[in-house]
Amino acid sequence: MASNFGGRVIRHGFTRTVTGPWNYVAGRRCKPSESLGSMKVPEPATGHVLCEVLVSGPLEVDRAVASAREVFPAWSKLSGRERGQKLIAAGRIIRENLEDISKLEVHDTGKPIWEARVDISSCADALEYYGGLAPAIIGQHVPLHGGSFAMVQRQPLGVIAGIGAWNFPMQTCVWKVAPALACGNTFVYKPSQFTPVTAVTLGEILTEAGVPDGVFNVIQGEGETGAKLCGHLDVAKLSFTGSIPTGIKVMEAGAKGIKSVTLELGGKSPLIIFEDADKKNAVKATLMANFLSQGQVCSNGSRVFVHSSVASEFMKQLVNATNKLKIGDPFNEDTTVGATIHEDHAKKILGYIASAKQEGATVLCGGERVIQPGKLASGWYLSPAVLGDCKDHMKVVREEVFGSIASVLVFDSEEEVVRRANDTNFGLAGAVFTKDIQRGHRVANAIEAGTVWINTYNLYPTEVPFGGYKHSGIGRENGLTAVDYFTQTRTVYVEMGDVDCGPLYQE
Ligand code: NAD
Repeated sequence: MASNFGGRVIRHGFTRTVTGPWNYVAGRRCKPSESLGSMKVPEPATGHVLCEVLVSGPLEVDRAVASAREVFPAWSKLSGRERGQKLIAAGRIIRENLEDISKLEVHDTGKPIWEARVDISSCADALEYYGGLAPAIIGQHVPLHGGSFAMVQRQPLGVIAGIGAWNFPMQTCVWKVAPALACGNTFVYKPSQFTPVTAVTLGEILTEAGVPDGVFNVIQGEGETGAKLCGHLDVAKLSFTGSIPTGIKVMEAGAKGIKSVTLELGGKSPLIIFEDADKKNAVKATLMANFLSQGQVCSNGSRVFVHSSVASEFMKQLVNATNKLKIGDPFNEDTTVGATIHEDHAKKILGYIASAKQEGATVLCGGERVIQPGKLASGWYLSPAVLGDCKDHMKVVREEVFGSIASVLVFDSEEEVVRRANDTNFGLAGAVFTKDIQRGHRVANAIEAGTVWINTYNLYPTEVPFGGYKHSGIGRENGLTAVDYFTQTRTVYVEMGDVDCGPLYQE
């Protein structure tokens, strides 16, 4: 089969992805009823245009929200088991087409194919998990005085607006959509303008799995479209993944409409390596904490704190391992470093290398553009960087880079490293490497972050909650907890005796 990305045909086998248009409303691909112009979406691997997408305006936002609103009563009245079966079926379709969907994600993001397979298979995990959980999303029976009782019902919220970032396009979407739909909500999603493709694929998969038309809709656009969606009066909740400045705007829009808001924002997480840590595992985890998806991962442990007694040996091993990473065509099986999302972002990352040098850091390896041969020549491929001589005050250490730069910082004591690790407004994640079980737990408990790994990094099983402390976000995705963020409770009090109103009523 072939997909047509704005006239350029890309061969793969996924039959549910055909040509544009790129909105998905009421169960089918459609053009916006009016558009605010068009976006030329770059393909990171080649730097050429992947597809041209029309930007949805207010009319299309209205249309998508109306479509979700119309089907809400029917979808929310299905039993959890009926909804769950459809989500599980969608998970199965993803597994059956894993290779083709992964290729679409590589076209869209430039990440290596092996990573895309992991991301896409995690989408199936989430659909299966929340599909299985759906029948168990139930309320409570609360016995009260004299045989009276209350029922605490779990109700869906209504139409959810989801807005995503570009680093894990389909996964970000599914992490929101799977629990929201399991709980009986309907959905309108706006993907990042840089990665419009796989949210539409998800729409086709859900339709194929038997999810009724209108339950899940996709509209394309940039900030303006996102803002319109957030401000729509018929949207009950905003579920956002992206940067802190945009998260603030989304929260302001939520405040204006008294809407519940979940924010999954940026990070600058600490990875703490004590002197007794298994060195090989610490190096492997540092690679996972910094160089997956070209370093464009929110939870990255880009502040690598290493105990002074092992710092030089660790840095030697880390640089050695980093130099072995293979930069190249993301479709090659042995590629471990693909293309940066686009030129502006690559230049921003290189700007952090320049500022680090100016502030006295030493580039131990990487930090340069690596021009690829042939059709990849216009892609932005950066060599993963390890920085030594870093200090806490440096811009590269304080700000989220969202690229492949690991800043190594040296420490002497547990008290000191915990204080320095927490000296940030971010609080998304962190990790501690040690063989001392008590120290591992002590430090994990002291790190101010929503996820802390002991002796590993950047694993996100669907079963466990994910989200940030401090400026890294509000609310949680994944795990049982996500149900709380996509439902509200209604208490129905049942009086089994006479009304007791004290002295208010006299015969
Ligand atoms: P971004 O904030 O620039 O854009 C995110 C989305 O918001 C895009 O779809 C964009 O079109 C939309 N948008 C822009 N202005 C808007 C507005 N006023 N109202 C509504 N929507 C608007 O972020 P990005 O560059 O796409 O993503 C990178 C950021 O995302 C990083 O900071 C990264 O850490 C964060 N991120 C966080 C998580 C997490 O789970 N915590 C996961 C992935 C990425």
